[in-house]
Amino acid sequence: MQQSLVILGASGSIGQSTLKVLRHNPSSWHVLALTAARNVDAMLRDCLEFSPRFAVMVDEDAARALAAGLKTHGSATQVMAGVDALCDVAAHPDAHSVMAAIVGAAGLAPTMAAVRAGKRILLANKEALVMSGAFFMEAVREHGAELLPIDSEHNAIFQCLPTEVQRQPGFCDLAAAGVSKILLTGSGGPFRYTEISELGKVTPAQAIAHPNWSMGAKISVDSATMINKGLEYIEARWLFNAAPEQIQVVIHPQSVIHSMVQYKDGSVLAQLGNPDMCTPIAHALAYPARISSSVEPLDFFTVGEFSFIRPDYARYPNLALAINACQQGQAATTALNAANEEAVAAFLSTRIGFMDISRINEAVMLAFESSAVGSLDDLLVLDEMARERAHHLIKELG
Ligand code: NAD
Ligand code: MG
Repeated sequence: MQQSLVILGASGSIGQSTLKVLRHNPSSWHVLALTAARNVDAMLRDCLEFSPRFAVMVDEDAARALAAGLKTHGSATQVMAGVDALCDVAAHPDAHSVMAAIVGAAGLAPTMAAVRAGKRILLANKEALVMSGAFFMEAVREHGAELLPIDSEHNAIFQCLPTEVQRQPGFCDLAAAGVSKILLTGSGGPFRYTEISELGKVTPAQAIAHPNWSMGAKISVDSATMINKGLEYIEARWLFNAAPEQIQVVIHPQSVIHSMVQYKDGSVLAQLGNPDMCTPIAHALAYPARISSSVEPLDFFTVGEFSFIRPDYARYPNLALAINACQQGQAATTALNAANEEAVAAFLSTRIGFMDISRINEAVMLAFESSAVGSLDDLLVLDEMARERAHHLIKELG
């Protein structure tokens, strides 16, 4: 029987890779809903191809334009607008799985709606988990939702863990399962060999040009500063119930080993493959079965050699900040995530320099790391205050 899928963030890089995997497996899934912020052309094209029952645009004008476009083609897709509509489709009773692929904190509300409706959630939107941590995981447990990681590292770790741990990884006991360490690999981004003194001058175009992965603009800049690995460190902490000392970051420039799990008997299990998000997407869509993903098989003779480097925090101050935030607790990680979203947006629009991103992140994190957070609402207030502080600092620097 076909399973029905909601794709939050369908017009983005992960959303498009998801549609690519579906094209390879046309009989297995039915698209119940596609959503995007405002990209009408992409949504019109994809709605005509996949005929979802619902299409949601966050922007009202974009929703009107999409509805008009669909009408001229005689499409039966129902168009809705706004954040409430995103949450409605994410929690729709007919949805079996929800691909959570909105970028940033904006993904929290619809992803939480899917969690509260007890869905199978394919989680790409790491910022939602970073900013809400234990509250998110508690909701997963309370509502019996199922979390399958899409982030390639976490998907790799998941695949290297024992089956009984895979059933509820967020509440597992890694040590009891024989795990001594999670080895989180990262490429080091486009500036891993750039002189540190030159980093202040790099442009958004240079930062977005990732050597191995093709991704959205925000995560590409995050990969260049390596805060992406730091957010993934926090993500691993929650997804696998890992203590900070159980996670180690390893730079692996070839991006072929997507992460590893070290066991106490000395074994290290790794998941490898060509760097293409269609693999983790196909894995999570079909789990525990295996389906075709369109990704070329890995050719070891082309790869040739693997190398590993210890991260240098002078080059990647943002990575150190995120690891620190993980140790500090929820207020620090929420503030850091919010500051980073604002700082990256300011860098992309050339209002600040590349190294200013970590300066802003550090100042905002320091200002809010001791805030009390007793509920999800407290976190949303903190997120807002951290963004305001970041805006203020961006203005001062700009
Ligand atoms: P992207 O920028 O390419 O796409 C983002 C999607 O979110 C788009 O569909 C956009 O319309 C939608 N969106 C943006 N702002 C929104 C808002 N305010 N409300 C609702 N929808 C909004 O991003 P991406 O690279 O596909 O990344 C998506 C998520 O997946 C991010 O959290 C990222 O960290 C994570 N991720 C991406 C990759 C990758 O290879 N691209 C890998 C691992 C994890
Ligand atoms: Mg990743």
